[in-house]
Amino acid sequence: MKIELKGRKAIVTGSTAGIGRAIAEGLARAGASVVINGRGEERVATALRELRALLPDVDFVGVVADLSTPEGSAALAAQVNEADILVNNAGTAHPNGFFEQEDSEWLDLFQLNVMSGVRAARHYMPGMVKRGWGRVVFISSESGVAIPKEMIDYGMTKTAQLAVSRGLAELVGGSGVTVNAVLPGPTRSEILGNWMRSTAEEQGISQEEAERNFLKTMRPTTLINRFTTTEEVANMVVYACSEQSSGTTGAALRVDGGVIRAIP
Ligand code: NAD
Repeated sequence: MKIELKGRKAIVTGSTAGIGRAIAEGLARAGASVVINGRGEERVATALRELRALLPDVDFVGVVADLSTPEGSAALAAQVNEADILVNNAGTAHPNGFFEQEDSEWLDLFQLNVMSGVRAARHYMPGMVKRGWGRVVFISSESGVAIPKEMIDYGMTKTAQLAVSRGLAELVGGSGVTVNAVLPGPTRSEILGNWMRSTAEEQGISQEEAERNFLKTMRPTTLINRFTTTEEVANMVVYACSEQSSGTTGAALRVDGGVIRAIP
């Protein structure tokens, strides 16, 4: 199977680092033109420079916008009016204790992890439906199914993304537009990589050892006994964005290393 996305325009939110960056690169390698997004001018410029050096024939555009606000989402929509592929990846987690957390922390996380994708889908999907082709992917998490007790708010946003993704797939059924969610497990992204690196330094152990300890205590059901790479997650996303995935919509596609102990 050769995935060919030449002529397709993709937006990957939160793509200056981590999983989003790997998805942007994967889509670009398949021939799509890609919009890179992040909050900081410098980080977007660096990502663009690196990606253009890596793939000089690909058309990359950078958009600096904080998608945790309606204004940021509007800025993205104003700068990039249409897209064939939308990957709602921007998201974060703050493992604060449930009993210490304020309302505002829940609402702020909801704004970024859920509403950024809702707003982008609302803007870009009608054009996809009109043109009869589109791919929308929400980057959810295994935490949307197996809610982690140390970040219930995060789990809630990731479950909400599954609901939105499935609902949108229903809404545009038969249009040529597919909507799916991808559920990564613990992945060596920037945020989790940095966390594991500092844990390793504090404890005088290697990063791999810190990751294994994390899995043993926090995700003991892993079947691969290691973190996934951002590329492994990106591979699934690129497939979900391909022509070849046309029979897959409304699905929750797992790249969780088997963490979720369920068959479907
Ligand atoms: P990361 O922190 O490594 O990268 C996040 C990217 O999003 C960065 O480019 C950052 O600049 C950007 N970003 C953050 N806030 C933004 C905002 N307000 N507006 C625009 N861009 C913003 O994170 P990651 O681990 O790669 O996570 C990416 C997605 O994958 C998230 O939705 C996360 O919930 C999900 N996920 C991650 C893991 C994991 O183990 N790393 C597991 C499951 C799901």
